[in-house]
Amino acid sequence: MGEQLFFGNYSPVGDIVVISICIVMFILIATSFATRTKSFLLFLAMISNLAMASLTNVIMHDYYIHITGGDYTPIYFLRVLYHFFLFFMFLLYLAYFVHVLDIKGIGCRRIMIVSSFIFLVSMITDVVTMICGTGFRLNSDGTATAGYNIFSFGYLAFILVVAILMIEYRNRMYKNAVIGLAGTIIVSFLILLTQARHGQSSYTVSTFMFPIFAIMYLLHSNPYDIRTGAVNVNSFTDAVSYSYAKKRGFFYVSMYLPYFHSEGIPIPTNLQKELRQFPSQHFKKSILFRITNGHMLLMIPKKNNPDFYEKFKPVLEAFYKAFEIYRYDYKLVVGHSIDDISKKNDYLGFIKSIQKRMNVNTVHYVDDEDVKAYNRTGDIIKELEDIYKKNDLNDERVLAYCQPVFNIRTGKYDTAEALMRLKLPVLGMVFPDQFISLAEEYDFIHVLTKIILNKTCIAVGDLLREGYEVTRISVNASIPELKEHTFTNDIERIISSADIPEGKIAIEITESQSESDQKMILNMIDELKGVGTKFYLDDFGTGYSNMERIMKLPFDIIKFDRSLVIASKTDKRSEEIVRRLAGIFADLDYSVLYEGIEDEDDENRCINMYASYLQGYKYSKPVPIEELRNFFSKKSDNT
Ligand code: C2E
Ligand code: CA
Ligand code: CA
Repeated sequence: MGEQLFFGNYSPVGDIVVISICIVMFILIATSFATRTKSFLLFLAMISNLAMASLTNVIMHDYYIHITGGDYTPIYFLRVLYHFFLFFMFLLYLAYFVHVLDIKGIGCRRIMIVSSFIFLVSMITDVVTMICGTGFRLNSDGTATAGYNIFSFGYLAFILVVAILMIEYRNRMYKNAVIGLAGTIIVSFLILLTQARHGQSSYTVSTFMFPIFAIMYLLHSNPYDIRTGAVNVNSFTDAVSYSYAKKRGFFYVSMYLPYFHSEGIPIPTNLQKELRQFPSQHFKKSILFRITNGHMLLMIPKKNNPDFYEKFKPVLEAFYKAFEIYRYDYKLVVGHSIDDISKKNDYLGFIKSIQKRMNVNTVHYVDDEDVKAYNRTGDIIKELEDIYKKNDLNDERVLAYCQPVFNIRTGKYDTAEALMRLKLPVLGMVFPDQFISLAEEYDFIHVLTKIILNKTCIAVGDLLREGYEVTRISVNASIPELKEHTFTNDIERIISSADIPEGKIAIEITESQSESDQKMILNMIDELKGVGTKFYLDDFGTGYSNMERIMKLPFDIIKFDRSLVIASKTDKRSEEIVRRLAGIFADLDYSVLYEGIEDEDDENRCINMYASYLQGYKYSKPVPIEELRNFFSKKSDNT
């Protein structure tokens, strides 16, 4: 702690460079962040603070050099201020860290309180030792006594806190980012050591800058897709939260190009260019987000574009023209912010649900009905999840309906298809088109199948005991549920626990294009044939209808889809094709069932096309399974 010529080696170059870089970074951050998120504000605060520290340092030294007389008071003051900025920098840094690591609640408060405490104690000690004369002091001849270097202790304490956080929460950060950050902190430390060796203090502030660079680069450097000029999807979520918090509405245009759905196919350069120029040309302050490779979303602030729908008309015209050239399929969804969805931050889910229902090359304007449908879907999913969790084979929300099937040979009804409906507390009756694909998507379908199977088995038992002739009832199975390892076991267990004769239950399944599905179907049929189960190929004629693949599977009955019944009505040629197809199956000992028979004309045609069974509204709509009693006959009737 000897005497030295104070600031003897100091050069303002280091600090001036820091100030300049801070200004540049300020501009970059202000222009590259799509929204004023928390990280954005913290960054700006850090950079401003850093620039202030450098500025104070420069002024302090300038004052020192040009000092006349012996009044050092301003230097003491500026030195305290300088340290204040640096310590405050530590705090901002920690706040950012805590934010990025998503540390919330008590953990967050504890870290910030402990650090503030270290910071305060250091500051106070610095001032007190200075006043007591044991700390930093300027002598009348211009030399300085360094005294206890409190600042270095504060610096060390800060590095310690960061190190502890990085070790404690390492799993929350991308590993390479941790390594990168640790690397820059080491570099900063080496600069400090080197300048100390040379009795320097010109580069102290710059050592604070490198970790900011590191964070900027590691965590925020990739928000922008250079090819389309779009900001990445995370920024969209941020932007929604921000606009919701600030109660600022927005419009959006979502453009989905199915062809570019996979990441492998880049959007052609011309189209890229149009996308890059598109937003700013038409809507003030709009931002283009890249949701996936083939999904872009333009967000348009309401405030700056109150006349959005007017402005959108010519844009849409231009879009149609452009797509006459590009000829890619598209789905456009146009809408505005809705509190309910902003709150959940679920525009992407909402838009996807709309896209799913849309035809390609159409534009959809979001309305209240969409929101209702979407919320309804959410409610249905919740109920399905609950049904799944309860796993109750008698769950009252799942109803077994049945559609009787007309047997041409006997002229009676002795088989039927079980069809599912949901009866939900708030939503009421829900039909398959609204829940089957959801249940498949969310993996809840197998539970539903088990329930419907159980209810069907019980009903068959009752009918048989009452003396009804029931040859069998078929239950639908979905391809996705065959993945369940317990599938065949579950089916066997439920059938055998019902105490009904073998073969009273059949399974309907659709064809599938995939090889692995084909194997699963074959395994299932192999295992369940053992207990006398018959198999229906459902919806023949709607899928890919690969004859070779179908013939490999030992189905018993082929269900010709309603679309074939309709096609056979349109002209003789189609009728002939359907008839011959059915003929091939009949020759090979399959039974042919026609679905969707609505009138006598359908009935007569299908009878002439090798039909064994007919099913459709002509005979009956699906009815509650108990009502099969109105269709099936009792053995005693059989005279
Ligand atoms: P699917 O298996 O092809 O069932 C036949 C559908 O056609 C039923 O609709 C039935 O009501 C309807 N239908 C019957 N006759 C006629 C007719 O003459 N004309 C017309 N236009 N339609 C007729 P539903 O009950 O709404 O079922 C729709 C689809 O939902 C079913 O198609 C099936 O794929 C699925 N589904 C229904 N219940 C279940 C189930 O328990 N499990 C599984 N995995 N899927 C089911
Ligand atoms: Ca079916
Ligand atoms: Ca069908």
